[in-house]
Amino acid sequence: MTGPPVKTTCPYCGVGCGVVATPRADGAVDIEGDPDHPANYGRLCSKGVALAETVGLEGRLLHPEIGGERTGWDAALDRVATTFSKTIAEHGPDSVAFYVSGQLLTEDYYVANKLMKGYIGSANIDTNSRLCMASSVAGHKRAFGSDTVPGTYRDLELADLVVLVGSNLAWCHPVLQQRLAAAKADRPEMQIVVVDPRATATTEFADMHLAIRPESDVVLFAGLLDSLFRAGKLNKRFVLRHTTGWGEALRCAREIGLETAIERTGLSREQLAAFYRLFAETERTVTVYSQGVNQSVSGTDKVNAILNCHLFTGRIGRPGMGPFSVTGQPNAMGGREVGGLANQLACHMALDNETHRGIVRDFWRSPRIAWRDGLKAVDLFDAIHAGDVKAVWIMGTNPADSLPNAAKVAEALDRSAFTVVSDVMRDTDTTQYADVLLPATAWGEKSGTVTNSERRISRQKPFLPIPGDARPDWRIICDVAQRMGFRSAFDYGSAADIFREYAALSAVGNNGGRDFDIGGLADISDADFDEFAPVQWPVRRDAAPGPWDHRFFADGRFYTATGKAQMVPTPLPHPVSAGETRLILNSGRVRDHWHTMTRTGLSPRLSRHLAEPFCEIHPADASRYDIEPATLVELEGGGRKAVLRALITDRLPPGSLFAPMHWTGQFAETGRIGRVIDTGTDLVSGQPALKSASVTIRPFAPAWYGFAVLRDRPVTFDADYWALARAEGGWRVELAGRWAPEDWWVYARLLFGAKSDAALLVYRDPAQQRFHFARYDEGTLTGALFVGPEPVSVSRSWAVDRLARKGVRIGEQMTTLAGRGGADLPDPGATTCTCFSIGINQIADAIESEGCRTVADIGAALGAGTNCGSCRSEIEGILNATKIREAV
Ligand code: SF4
Repeated sequence: MTGPPVKTTCPYCGVGCGVVATPRADGAVDIEGDPDHPANYGRLCSKGVALAETVGLEGRLLHPEIGGERTGWDAALDRVATTFSKTIAEHGPDSVAFYVSGQLLTEDYYVANKLMKGYIGSANIDTNSRLCMASSVAGHKRAFGSDTVPGTYRDLELADLVVLVGSNLAWCHPVLQQRLAAAKADRPEMQIVVVDPRATATTEFADMHLAIRPESDVVLFAGLLDSLFRAGKLNKRFVLRHTTGWGEALRCAREIGLETAIERTGLSREQLAAFYRLFAETERTVTVYSQGVNQSVSGTDKVNAILNCHLFTGRIGRPGMGPFSVTGQPNAMGGREVGGLANQLACHMALDNETHRGIVRDFWRSPRIAWRDGLKAVDLFDAIHAGDVKAVWIMGTNPADSLPNAAKVAEALDRSAFTVVSDVMRDTDTTQYADVLLPATAWGEKSGTVTNSERRISRQKPFLPIPGDARPDWRIICDVAQRMGFRSAFDYGSAADIFREYAALSAVGNNGGRDFDIGGLADISDADFDEFAPVQWPVRRDAAPGPWDHRFFADGRFYTATGKAQMVPTPLPHPVSAGETRLILNSGRVRDHWHTMTRTGLSPRLSRHLAEPFCEIHPADASRYDIEPATLVELEGGGRKAVLRALITDRLPPGSLFAPMHWTGQFAETGRIGRVIDTGTDLVSGQPALKSASVTIRPFAPAWYGFAVLRDRPVTFDADYWALARAEGGWRVELAGRWAPEDWWVYARLLFGAKSDAALLVYRDPAQQRFHFARYDEGTLTGALFVGPEPVSVSRSWAVDRLARKGVRIGEQMTTLAGRGGADLPDPGATTCTCFSIGINQIADAIESEGCRTVADIGAALGAGTNCGSCRSEIEGILNATKIREAV
């Protein structure tokens, strides 16, 4: 397919940036930010910029399979429908389940939810968004009576104070961070406070970093509420007219008090006073919160502690002020809207509300409607493990890696009587357990809508041909539903048909009594659906088009039974302690990868930034546990182990560790961090505490370390530790083993692959246990392996660049074998700017030799930071570190 530019939406984070994709005649795609999209106005982050590198067919699931054998759609759909129907007939509706994903489009989500809750009659459908923002949903519902995000992205730009809580915005929502950074550049008096136990790329541009102890957010905000009261900041008019429970919430906060806040947060009296004063004195305040708040056993209380402060001061729903939950996934919000969580119905209606059940049942003409909550994600996989759920359908997600206690999840899938997986990728750690595999269309092929964190609905549109036998998720679900006997209820011709029905349902019985209403879109034509411009809900029937930035709650009307907001007491939580011999493991994201890397792992550019799973550890803990820089460490949690590269840094507090969530069995078998996270869930939201697992750490102590660059993906690693990443021209791999192979020459040949007869260049120093190998095919480097008894010090960026270069130059073979750059190819250092492949050594050189003193200077000299801007915070950090060195 070649064609005109297509306006669509980025498939990664909840910012929901508009993208213009232009297919080229050679099959490639040009990607640009959509200048007209109100989420990003043309900006993209490093992941968005690299989207074109991830749309190929490598690794795709292109045909249905049963038992690992290719089959046709009829056989596969019949097997799924028959097995689900039979299981329901024998064991009841609650014996089956769907586990879905924030990657699904709203239309996919809607029909999956309709099938499970309205036709099967169970609420056993939950989504991986449970891991992301279920605590925000629960907190919103407790306070507002509805799952409403009151504000808009524009509020971050209009605020005089932005408080970021548990949010590494610079890496996890980069375009939002860029908007905020631009606003601050225009108005330097704007204050940015980051509340995070770790120093991150986001703290680099903050005016104040409150490095609280893990899990002390409730105490911090309870202390703030008390302090606001003492400072006379109670907004009596708003609170008395529009809230209930403020006295009890305040009493609870005052019981916690300042001294406990100092003790629990680990902040000084002065730091707390400065933050509390700033918040009290700044009317236009936005508090942004994300996974650091949500992924906790007290996540819902954390959310309500934040909401209490905004309700208490009446700072909600007005320009430049309000609480703001930002979601991780591209369509987490759409999933919430259609009722994709096991404790919701559809269109923000409630399972435990008889009127709502009646509306949905009548509208859907349901033979049986679910009447109670289904199993939330963690409980769902426990039920599969116990044999209570006997058939499960997993759509577009990878729970064998992403859920806590991931090894038990894999065990559950292994035991499961019947597992269906619909996905775009053939080989994930979850697809290997599937009895039936169903190929779904990927980004660039599918059509429908998504909703971003500011309630803005945008289109995802196809610009690539559908490959193989792949089908849209909504169609697969409808095909199964029809085979289960629900023919007319799932007889949709297009995503637009589904959207119209969904929009109509949102308006039924609504009259302003429910926040979510897009009834004004219920009659949208196919042509208008195709040309649909981003719109923020609500879009009510018979109402004039709303303002460009719609906010909720400025009028003081909430969706509780009383119409008033509920301020919720947030009692002192149990302190989090890993114990004497254990540490608290915080898991999270890195800048250039997305979830379990099924797409970003395909991009050499994105793999340059951080190519290996790692574990951040404080120098005091490293010394205590005998851990040296760049060596490997073994984490143990819940009886399972992971091996990661040690990164010793004082950017996190003693007693804590941080490890990324992304690595899987396809990229680093022992780097799967979900396996060692054995943790509890929030009692209200069911969200797992992915940021406070208790683990032990010790050196891994291999006999040898290795690093290789390879043209071909290795068939085998024969190593106790390996971490594979894409590189321009091939692959790069980190290796380590407890025992050295008998013959390193044989090992190198096996690793390089047997395709070539080219001789190996060899450097051996058996006394020092150092072995270097290089292979050149027709003058081009196709493999290099460096082995030593300690971590290999070869520059990764230099070696990758050498692999990508065509043709051999004089002396190059010897410098390659030596593992160091010649004058023709100096070592750029670890990649900082992915867009222009600029390494840290190049930036340091520009600071030293060209006198660069600002991010703009670096941009002018090297281009770094001038495209997507995702690396600007890191460049700022390098500049700051240089200033500190100069000052010392
Ligand atoms: Fe995509 Fe980046 Fe925008 Fe998120 S911030 S939607 S990952 S381009």
